[in-house]
Formats: sequence, C-alpha cells, structure tokens
Amino acid sequence: MTCDEVRQHLLDYQQGRARLETQKAVRAHLEACAGCTRADAVEQELTRLLEQRLPQHPASLALKRRLAARWSQAPTGRSWWSRWRPSLVPALAAATVVLVAAPVVYYERAASGAAREQSAMVAEAVNDHLRLLSSQHPLDVESGGLHQVKPWFGGRLDFAPVVAFEGDADFPLKGGSVAYFRDRKAAVFVYARRLHPISLLVFRADGLPWPSRNLTRIGGLDALATSERGFNVIVWRRGELGYTLVSDVDADELRALAARMTSAR
Ligand SMILES: [Zn+2]
Repeated sequence: MTCDEVRQHLLDYQQGRARLETQKAVRAHLEACAGCTRADAVEQELTRLLEQRLPQHPASLALKRRLAARWSQAPTGRSWWSRWRPSLVPALAAATVVLVAAPVVYYERAASGAAREQSAMVAEAVNDHLRLLSSQHPLDVESGGLHQVKPWFGGRLDFAPVVAFEGDADFPLKGGSVAYFRDRKAAVFVYARRLHPISLLVFRADGLPWPSRNLTRIGGLDALATSERGFNVIVWRRGELGYTLVSDVDADELRALAARMTSAR
C-alpha cells in the first residue's frame, strides 16, 4: 500500500471501519513508515480535539471533520493567533447551513484518476492548514521578517525553501514552522490578511501528481486556483519545489498574494 492509499484509508482505519485486508495493510505500512505514522497521530489528535470541542453536536464524525474545516479552535493566550478566532464564527454558521443543505456532496464527489490525484493534493494542503489552525503552538518561530524566519529552517529541512516575498503591509509575515506534506517535510510560512491566517507550504516537488490542466496564469507562472471545504487554495510548482497557499481570505486577495510570490525572484 502506498502512502497516498494509507492516508485515504486512515480515518476508516482509526474508526475500525475498513475491510480486514485494508486494516492489515494500513497497520503494516504504519509500522514501517514514519511519515504516515505521524499523519496517523495528527489525525487521531484532530479527532480527539473535535470530539472534545463539539461534544453536543449530533452530526457524525465525518460531518464534524467537515465542519472543523470551516471552524477551528484557536488556542488561548496567544496574541495574534487568538485574535482571528472571532472572524471564524460567521463561517461556523455558514457551515451549519451547508451541513443541513448538502451533507454528502463532498464525500460523494466523483472524480477521474487525474482529477482525484489533483484534489488529493489540494485536500492535503487544506488538511495541513487545518492542522496548523488547530495547533496549540502554530508558529515555531514568530517573526518580524523573512530574514528571521529563513535561517530558522536551517538544519530542520533537507532542502532550502525558496521564498522571495518578505511580506508587506497587506500581507505581513507572521512566522513559520515545519510540517509534513504527504511523505515529505515542508516549510510553513504563515502570512496574514487582516485577521485571517494564510499558510504557504514549500516542499520538494518530485514524485507528486502536479496539476497540469485548468491552470491559471498568476504572476510569473501557471497555477491551480481552486477552493475546498471553505478555503481558497492555490498550488504551483517552480523547479524543484512545490508551493501551496491556503486561507479563508477572499479568492482575489489570495491570488494577489500568490502573484507577489510567483513574480518575485
Ligand atoms: Zn507512508
């Protein structure tokens, strides 16, 4: 079983809903794969948090997970990080409407092979954004600028993340951390637009199903601009590195930020 397949079955595996052979295959893979073991732990923690924070909600776990994509628990006592929480409350109301109106559309969305792989990339980007939002300590390094964040990654990654955009008055850089994108490490740069966090993941591009269709010209290159579970997502590749940009800010604003990143050298 590949890492991708394991990630797809992870939730069912944890709930004991997968077929017996699948359970065995996932378990065997987890014993041998550090990346998936970490993803497994993160998913379990996320599930635990959601059960804890939404104990009265009658929806199934799958629905809660989807709800959580629109509403994340801000930690207390963190200055900037806790301040954007009020901006998410209207999104919770919107998500509730979505739950009532269209409860199964997301999971039943049919997709061709290539489209499914593409959407798996987008889903992973959103999951990483969600993990960041639900983390108690989302920023391992808080910053006034790129010159503080970039050196911090030295020794924590097996590649040098190339990011030329230093942040500006519209999109200040808040800090960074290390995450996983599928089977590989990723540098996370967190920017903000007013109270909305924006995560930029940078990771090695090789071996991933890069989108080649329905691309949009943004700044200096072609990118996939889409949305998933209430978040706007932009995905692009430049040379050896891949980039995902995720936020609940307006699609045009996220595109404006992506343009600054893809135009800069
Ligand atoms: Zn794996």
